[in-house]
Amino acid sequence: MARNRFNSGTTPEEELPKAKLNKESIKRAEGLLQYMKPYRWKFFIGLFCLFVSSITFLAFPAILGALLDAAQGKHKLPFIQPSINALGYAAFGILFIQSIVSFIRVRFFVEVAEKTIADIRKDTYFKLITLPMDFFANRRVGELNSRLSADLSQIQDTLTTSLAEIIRQTVMLIGGIAILIFVSQHLTLFSLAILPLVVICAVLFGKKIRAVSREAQDKLAESNTIVQETLQGISNVKAFANEAYETKRYDNSLRDVVSIALRGATLRGGFASFIVFCLFGTVVGVVWYGATLVANKELSVGLLGTYILYSAVVGAAMGTFPDLFANLQKAIGSTERVMEILREQNEPISIDPEENKTRQVIKGCLEFDNVFFSYPSRKEITVLKGLSFKATAGEKVAIVGPSGAGKSTIASLILRFYNPQEGEILFDGLTSESYALTDIRNQVAIVPQDVLLFGGTIRENIAYGKLNASDDEITTAAKQANAHNFIHSLPEGYDTVVGERGIKLSGGQRQRIAIARALLKDPAILILDEATSSLDSESERLVQEALEVLMKNRTSIIIAHRLSTIREADKIVVLEKGVVAESGTHEELIQNEEGLYRYLSQLQFEA
Ligand code: ADP
Ligand code: MG
Repeated sequence: MARNRFNSGTTPEEELPKAKLNKESIKRAEGLLQYMKPYRWKFFIGLFCLFVSSITFLAFPAILGALLDAAQGKHKLPFIQPSINALGYAAFGILFIQSIVSFIRVRFFVEVAEKTIADIRKDTYFKLITLPMDFFANRRVGELNSRLSADLSQIQDTLTTSLAEIIRQTVMLIGGIAILIFVSQHLTLFSLAILPLVVICAVLFGKKIRAVSREAQDKLAESNTIVQETLQGISNVKAFANEAYETKRYDNSLRDVVSIALRGATLRGGFASFIVFCLFGTVVGVVWYGATLVANKELSVGLLGTYILYSAVVGAAMGTFPDLFANLQKAIGSTERVMEILREQNEPISIDPEENKTRQVIKGCLEFDNVFFSYPSRKEITVLKGLSFKATAGEKVAIVGPSGAGKSTIASLILRFYNPQEGEILFDGLTSESYALTDIRNQVAIVPQDVLLFGGTIRENIAYGKLNASDDEITTAAKQANAHNFIHSLPEGYDTVVGERGIKLSGGQRQRIAIARALLKDPAILILDEATSSLDSESERLVQEALEVLMKNRTSIIIAHRLSTIREADKIVVLEKGVVAESGTHEELIQNEEGLYRYLSQLQFEA
């Protein structure tokens, strides 16, 4: 379920889907309440203030009406007969209370929403980055991220405004109707007969209009696709001289857009006239009927004024409900999706760094024992089919083989990004399950082919291998990695910002930073996944030198494309179609006339 929702190919700009409002969906969205719990008192105070402000707002029309009557020397309020000044003071007093509670309400609601959302954001982020690799295999990560942001903004909006509005408008609606009945039962009966009809029509109209405008958007997107596709494949269009055909296609699509837009305009125009007629018609009707009542001395002018003001309040409240409910539904849908992520099973990594410290030391012996593996996202293809090899502590083992043979997969399995379906991976003779996940990842380092540097300084990027490294340690590592000289020659040295907003480093330079990173980490087992294969010969020499330092005295798994770089390995494992085709030293393998290794090295030698 979760998978499909995030994978449905929708863009975040699209309207967030709504959830049905029922017991179940609300129950599923309940997790949100857990997050609000720490701030519940502020929330309740906010609620109380909201209630007070709604009630005081309701008192206004009554006071204004009473003022009108008092001005004419009439007092139609029961029990009390206040003076004009008393009413004026009361109005200001209420206004004052209103401002104070409104301030507190806004301030507290925003605080509760901001803090709740920040907590949820933090937890979803931690959850996301600790989810197992195969969670990401089926999703476009960018989309997941923007969908999550959209969901969280929706929840935040609802917490700060929609929720408050719903409560306020409910108070307005119920209070308003009660007062209307109190002021004049005749008029209330009269207008209540019309108003619901208007509201229902408005809601239906609104639904239809929304549907049409969504259709119009879809059509527009469709026609934009034509432009995009043809521009991308412009050489095809030109080569086939199909410009006229494409223009015709685009024109047709545009005509569709226009006709739908016009349908929308008709609806919208009709709706506007209808609303104007109905709303003002109701007002005219009420005033008309009210005037008769006033003429018959059944109602005072002030009460009629009060009545009209309250009907406006009630009408407005009714009008806002559809939107507010739509918002609430969206927020519940959003909450469900966020909670779904939070309920996913993550890798056993603690949010507390102390608990992730290494507990079980690995000396460096690594063994694959009859490992079968297929990626969870592509179960039908078995990548490793009974793979076995062993690297004793301190040994350099090279893994070679054609592209797609499963070399990088081996690296992923060592890091336990995935678990094999059959067979065992053993560290120092113990199965990988007998280690904590962080024990393994803390003691294995990988230098990949494409090094990704984070947007930060070079110093920070090197320290990624050991977060508490001192400046001395960082410089030493950089020197050993052949990186110190080039870093030193940059104007800002180790404080040079790299990554998207900083300078761009060459492949070899990034590689050497990655090596410095790995040196700082000081792993028991080192994996080099084609670490030098995208470099020119000069950088390759520098990187190769750095790698020699890094590999010294530790188990190294060297995945290599260029066979020239692995001649010195203690053992070479030749991988073909997920199994070991042959293994041995360079000298041994090159003797095998029929062997894949000999064939591959002949190919490269000739090249
Ligand atoms: P090599 O590094 O030897 O070139 P890989 O280990 O990257 O090969 O890939 C081995 C096989 O596994 C290939 O057929 C590849 O298509 C497949 N594969 C690699 N990564 C994934 C993945 N994340 N999900 C599914 N299949 C994958
Ligand atoms: Mg690879």
